[in-house]
Amino acid sequence: MSAGRCIEVALAVPLFRTFSYRVPDGVAWPVAVGARVLVPFRNRTEIGVCLGAAEPPAGVSLKPVRAVVDDVPSLPAPLVHTARWIADWYAAPLGLTLRAMLPTALTQPNTPSPAAKTQRVVHLMQELPSLLQREQTFARAKQQRAVYDLLEAQGGMAPLEALRVQANCSAGVITAMVKRGLVEVRNEARARDPFAERAGVAPPPHPSVAQREAIASILAGDPGQVFLLHGITGSGKTLVYIEVLRAVLAEPGRTAIVLVPEIALTSQTVDRFRGAFGDDVAVLHSGLSDGERLDAWHALRRGERRIAVGARSALFAPLERVGVVIVDEEHEGSYKQSETPRYHAREAAIVRARAEGALVVLGSATPSLESWERADRGQAVRLTLPDRAAGAQLPPVTVVDMRAVSQQHLAHRAPHAPHDPAVGVFSPTLLAAVESRLTLGEQTLLLLNRRGYAAFIQCQACGDVPVCPHCSISLTYHRVPEALVCHYCQHQVEVPAVCGRCGAESPRKRGLGTQQVERLVAERFPDARIARMDVDTTSGKWAHTQILDRVGRGEVDILLGTQMIAKGLDFPNVTLVGVVDADTGLNLPDFRASERTFQLLSQVAGRAGRGAKGGEVIVQTRMPEAHAVRHALSHDFLGFVREELGARRLPAYPPFVSLANVLVSGVDQVATAAACMGAAEWLGELMTRQGLRDLVLVGPAPCPIDRIKDRWRWHFLLKSSQPKLMTRVARYVAERCPVPRDAELRLVVDRDPVSLL
Ligand code: ADP
Ligand code: ZN
Repeated sequence: MSAGRCIEVALAVPLFRTFSYRVPDGVAWPVAVGARVLVPFRNRTEIGVCLGAAEPPAGVSLKPVRAVVDDVPSLPAPLVHTARWIADWYAAPLGLTLRAMLPTALTQPNTPSPAAKTQRVVHLMQELPSLLQREQTFARAKQQRAVYDLLEAQGGMAPLEALRVQANCSAGVITAMVKRGLVEVRNEARARDPFAERAGVAPPPHPSVAQREAIASILAGDPGQVFLLHGITGSGKTLVYIEVLRAVLAEPGRTAIVLVPEIALTSQTVDRFRGAFGDDVAVLHSGLSDGERLDAWHALRRGERRIAVGARSALFAPLERVGVVIVDEEHEGSYKQSETPRYHAREAAIVRARAEGALVVLGSATPSLESWERADRGQAVRLTLPDRAAGAQLPPVTVVDMRAVSQQHLAHRAPHAPHDPAVGVFSPTLLAAVESRLTLGEQTLLLLNRRGYAAFIQCQACGDVPVCPHCSISLTYHRVPEALVCHYCQHQVEVPAVCGRCGAESPRKRGLGTQQVERLVAERFPDARIARMDVDTTSGKWAHTQILDRVGRGEVDILLGTQMIAKGLDFPNVTLVGVVDADTGLNLPDFRASERTFQLLSQVAGRAGRGAKGGEVIVQTRMPEAHAVRHALSHDFLGFVREELGARRLPAYPPFVSLANVLVSGVDQVATAAACMGAAEWLGELMTRQGLRDLVLVGPAPCPIDRIKDRWRWHFLLKSSQPKLMTRVARYVAERCPVPRDAELRLVVDRDPVSLL
C-alpha cells in the first residue's frame, strides 16, 4: 500500500483538526511518527509533529513539507499515543497537546539564543536594625522602604528582576537606593543547578516486612497494571519506590519516571532518589532555564540518564521502554494542569504506562477518592503500609475548640486588662506545648493556610471591605511590604487611612494570616528562631530548599507556614505540629472542600513524631464536628472515605460521575452572562434532540468568584455516569459551541476539574 508520500501533521494551533502535507522527493521517506517537521502554514514556516502517513485527498494539491527536523523522533510513539488520549479526553487540540510535551526550545522554528549565563542581583549594604532608623531613612521613600523590607526578609540579597516584581516598583527606585549606598547591584553567574550539587541521601538498608510485601506485589504485576500504595505518613513509601525502581532498571534498556507534586517542596525525597541512583537521575525542576531544560531533555532522550524525576510535565520525559511510573502524593491537586491541555498527570500516567507496558504506582497516605474508587472497581490493586517505619508511632492529636477558648477568656478577663492580641489565635494548650518544645530544644511546625497578615480590612463604622477593582475578591492586608494585595491578580493598593466609603478612620484588620502569626509568635517567644514559609517568602528560586535545609540543620525552632509545610517533610526532631486554624478551607463552595481539608490536616499531622522522640499534634478549630476534622484527628482515612463517598452520591459528584466545568468569561458582564446562558440553552436543545438522558446540566450560574482579572465568569457543570458520552459532549462543546470566540469572550471546557471556584 503506498500512501503516496503524504503525511498527517499536527500544528500548535487552537483548531480541532490536523493537516496533510506532501513529502517532496528531496525529503527522506517514510517520515517517522513523532518526528518534528517544518511546514508552510498561513505564509509562515511552522513546526509540527508527524502523525503518520496519510492518503492524499483527491483533487487537492498539497503543500510540501520543507524539512524533517529530527533524525530520531522527538516524541516516542507511546507519547504520541498519550497526546492523542489527552486531546480526546480533555477536549484539547492535538497540536497544542503535543507542543506541551516538548521543551520550549524544540517548539520554535528558529533555534532560540542560548539563555543568559548571568543575572543582576541586589545586595543590601546597610542594615537599619531599629524601627526609628528605618522611619527616618525612608520618611519620604515608601517604595524604597518596601524594597528594603523585602531584601531583609530574603536574607539580604535578591535577583533584581524578581525584586522589582515583588515590590512592584520601577528600576529607578533601586537606582536611587544604589546612589544612597543602601544597596549594590552586582552581575553574578546564575546559580548552578543546586540539585546537581546536593549530596544524595542513602536510603535505609533493609525494607521492613510490610515494605517487602508491597515491593514483591508490585514487581509481580502485569505490564500496565496500576497499584495504589496506601501507606500512612512515615510508613516508608519512598523506600518502596526505590526498591521497585532498582528491580525494574536491572533489566537493560529499561527506564523510569517519578512524579512528585512540586520539586522545591520535596527536595528531601529527591535527595533520596539521587542517593540511590546518582547520575542516573535527571531532576526536572521549574528553576531550570530553557537551555538547561533542553540539556536534561537530550540526556534522557539519548539514554544517558534513565530516571526522570519531576512535577506534572516530567510525565512527558522522552524516555523509551519505560518500565515503571511512580506518582507520589497522587492526591495532590497540582497534578492537574490549569491551562490547555487541562490534563491530570495521574490519569495521563496510567495511559502512558499502558502504552509502554510499564507498572504504575500511585502512592499516598490520603489517596484521592478517584483512586480509591478505582481500586474498589478492580482497576487498581490496593497495597497497604499500615504502620510507621522503624517502630515510630502516629502522633496523638488533641483538638482545641476555639469557641470555648474565647468564651473562657471573656469570662476570666479582668475588667481593665489590656487586650492581648494572641488571645483567640493561640489557645493556652498550644502555647504551653510550644514553650515546652523550646525548652527541650525540639522543633515545632505551625500551620495556617492563609498568607498575608490579615485576610481583609473592614471599616468599623460602615462595614465596608476593600475589594480588588479587577476581581470579585477582598484584598488581603500585607505588612511587609505594607499594601493591600489581590491574591488572584497581584493588584496592589496603598492601605487607606480612612474608609473609602464613609470616611471613618482606622479600618480594622480581620482574619488571620501567616505574617500575623509570625509576629505574634515572635512577641510571645522572643528567643525562638522562627522561619516562615509561604508564597511571599519563597519567590526566590531556591528559597524553599534553603528554608527546609535550615530546619534540617536544626537552625529553626518554629517553622510556620501555609500548606507548603504539610508536604512530605521528614524531620525527626519535629515533635509538635500545631494547626492554628483548621477551618480555613472548610467552607469554600467546592465539592472537594472537605476532602482537601482532611488531606491537609492528615498530611501536616503526619510531619510530627517521625523520630525516636515521638510527637504530638494540636488542632485548633471552631468546627470540631465537621467530618473532615473529626476523622483527621483519629487518623481514620477509611472513616473519612466512607462518609465522604456517601456525601458525593446525592447530588452526584466524582468519583460517581464524570464532571466537566464549562466556563465562559468576558469583559462585559451582561454579554458574558448571555453567552453562557446561550451556550447552556444550545446544549440543552441538543440533549433533548439526541435523547441524551445520562447527561445532566447544572446551571448556568456566575462562578463563586465571578470576576478575575477584569473578566466576568459564568459557568455550568456537566455530569454523566458514562465517561465516553462525556468525552463526546466535551469535545462537541469545545469545538462547536456558538460562543463568539474573540478577545471579548472565551469558552473553556475543564474536564475532571480540581477547583470549581
Ligand atoms: P512516607 O513517604 O511514607 O511518609 P518516608 O518514605 O519519608 O515515609 O519514610 C519515613 C522515614 O522512615 C524516613 O526517615 C525513612 O528513612 C525511614 N524508613 C523508611 N523505611 C525504613 C526502614 N525499612 N528501616 C528504617 N527506616 C526506614
Ligand atoms: Zn485582583
